[in-house]
Amino acid sequence: TPELHIIGGGMAGSEAAWQAVQMGVPVVIHEMRPQVETFAHKTGDLAEMVCSNSFRSDDDEQNAVGLLHWEMRAAGGLIMEMADAHSLPAGGALAVDRDAFSAGVTERLRAHPLVRVEEGEISTLPEDGHWIIATGPLTSEGLGQAIAAETGKDALAFFDAIAPIVYADSLDMDVIWAQSRYDKGETEEEQKAYLNCPMTKDQYEAFIDALLAADKTEFHEGETAGYFDGCLPIEVMAERGRETLRHGPMKPVGLTNAHKPDQKAYAVIQLRRDNALGTLYNIVGFQTKMKYGAQTEVFKTIPGMENARFARLGGIHRNTFLNSPTLLDNQMRLRSRPHLRFAGQITGVEGYVESAAMGLLAGRMAASEILGRELPAPPPETAMGALVNHITGGAEAKTFQPMNVNFGLFPPLDGVRGGRRGRKERYKGYTDRAKELWQGWLDNAKAGELTE
Ligand code: FAD
Repeated sequence: TPELHIIGGGMAGSEAAWQAVQMGVPVVIHEMRPQVETFAHKTGDLAEMVCSNSFRSDDDEQNAVGLLHWEMRAAGGLIMEMADAHSLPAGGALAVDRDAFSAGVTERLRAHPLVRVEEGEISTLPEDGHWIIATGPLTSEGLGQAIAAETGKDALAFFDAIAPIVYADSLDMDVIWAQSRYDKGETEEEQKAYLNCPMTKDQYEAFIDALLAADKTEFHEGETAGYFDGCLPIEVMAERGRETLRHGPMKPVGLTNAHKPDQKAYAVIQLRRDNALGTLYNIVGFQTKMKYGAQTEVFKTIPGMENARFARLGGIHRNTFLNSPTLLDNQMRLRSRPHLRFAGQITGVEGYVESAAMGLLAGRMAASEILGRELPAPPPETAMGALVNHITGGAEAKTFQPMNVNFGLFPPLDGVRGGRRGRKERYKGYTDRAKELWQGWLDNAKAGELTE
């Protein structure tokens, strides 16, 4: 059987390797650490957790990342098995002992007869063979340049300037109205692709005060390169002058408040539709380094957003990721060079769990291909399917930013969206449906193996 080569032995690469060897496909993991280091990794272990030690919520009935845990466990995932084996008490969250966890993953993979680990950086794109590139947000510079040369510079981001993303059904549409600035757009739908939150002068002044007072995170060393090229955090804009935001992302021009046509807003915060389903909106131009707690506090003072729930909060940090919606097919292959698959955070998902999940999928898809089978993408109603569907097609390519798994990515239940069902019942509906379909997908894949 031909070998599967995996560049990067992080969350995604480790899980991809595990899945492939379970299917009998030999794997070579190319890992640059400890020879070449990143600013965040501290060891030479596989699957090192670079920051927090949490896999977030483990609630598989009410939480999308908990559901993803469930799906990965059902698929025999190594990352989940080791997280469970080395979990720490943390209420409803799955926290792990990071050293024991990575040591466990490393030991299990190194001991496997079909796994070989080759140390050293790969800095060019391989010409042939079967490859998964899972080099993560801190992909080495050489390889990053090689990828940029292949995909075009604009299709590879080196920085995350993330504006917060909110759930559409948590917005108060008695205050907010839909309109694009100067009614731009060909179709009515395009003209309504933006939502607007109006502010009075007093509200604006209070908002600026809150921004200036909020807790912020500092940049890591070596993290700021390129950052001042037009993605200033809103709090930095506020520091430059109290009027800066009103002349920037919060300018009130070209808009008429549909609820109060005769009242001119002093400032306007715009939300832009973030996915094809219309369940998610990002706050335009609102990248920020405010701490998460401060963000929710400050953003809930925006008129119409008092009860906003966030699919993700804003941030700015170094992050290498592809514009996957334009570059990858639904088998996670680079369209222009299909012998190269991508997995993990570099595909535009966000988080340890999501990265490992995309490794699980890419590993199975690549191994299937080597064995002469095609593994269809999982149904979009599963957490795994919702994520891969988002990055390979569902997301808006122009504003594509790394995404955590969340219920906003799931197709609606029975065509019912939002208010008509209680949230608890709706989430239970999503997770029940996902579990059944995921189990079916796993069973089909298994049946495919057995019939050969
Ligand atoms: P990684 O786990 O980073 O694995 C990539 C591997 O590829 C690394 O081992 C690296 O050494 C190797 N590599 C890179 N280039 C090459 C090359 N050219 N040749 C060979 N090997 C190479 N997520 C969370 O859920 N919680 C957090 O708290 C969190 N904090 C983060 C903090 C920072 C500073 C960063 C950058 C990211 C953070 N993330 C966090 C996001 C992300 O989920 C993790 O980075 C996650 O580890 C990504 O998994 P991955 O497999 O895609 O990449």
